[in-house]
Amino acid sequence: MRKKIVAGNWKMNNTIEEGIVLAGQINDLVEKAGINGVDVVIGTPFVHLTEVNKIVGDKIGVAAQNCADETSGAYTGEVSVSMIKSTGSKYVILGHSERREYYNETSEKLVKKVKLSLESGLTPIFCFGEVLEERQSEKHFDVVKGQIADGLFNLSAEDFGKVVLAYEPVWAIGTGVTASSDQAQEMHAFIRKTLIEKYGQEVADNTSILYGGSCKPSNAKELFANADVDGGLIGGASLQAEDFMGIISAF
Ligand code: PEP
Repeated sequence: MRKKIVAGNWKMNNTIEEGIVLAGQINDLVEKAGINGVDVVIGTPFVHLTEVNKIVGDKIGVAAQNCADETSGAYTGEVSVSMIKSTGSKYVILGHSERREYYNETSEKLVKKVKLSLESGLTPIFCFGEVLEERQSEKHFDVVKGQIADGLFNLSAEDFGKVVLAYEPVWAIGTGVTASSDQAQEMHAFIRKTLIEKYGQEVADNTSILYGGSCKPSNAKELFANADVDGGLIGGASLQAEDFMGIISAF
């Protein structure tokens, strides 16, 4: 059966010193709570990965927030999947709307990044979601289906089964406006139906689909109670250990 996952995305926040403190606090809270049945992930800037991996115990996985679309060589400023892997990290967040919008993260690039991640043994957390105008003009289902198909449907069923999906309506990211519980479930059920059509019932049933967008301790319970919402990708609320823990314990 599919995993329940709560993944934090620190984005471009925290110095190394601050990151070490925050990771330690999250680790202590998770250990103390004896969390079972939820995979906890912390997505940090590249420079934090090695240190954060040393701090967290085996109850927490660490994620990079991007990777290069080449394996190695003359690509100044880029970080490869093997470099990420060598820090002890197990996940990589790919296709976040901020990367799609500000860094020209196209589906073509994402196809390469997903492939390299899987080959290196990293689990991609693949993000997608519609902008407000697309929802208002009722194109959101088509947009989401297109982003998933363009980025992932070249994968075999076996490889697709190694990917975690994160539906993140762009209008809800960092805005304080969360999708309602009904909106989240409606979209997640649609995504699962799309996966059934492409890969069959078993693969679809085993795929974790996270919700992201202004998820907080106060709304996580209602969102996670939905049959097709398997956890969350958490931005702002993952920067405070107690808030992040409040979301982890919302299951
Ligand atoms: C995100 O950036 O993935 C995100 C969901 O951010 P926030 O929780 O701050 O809306």
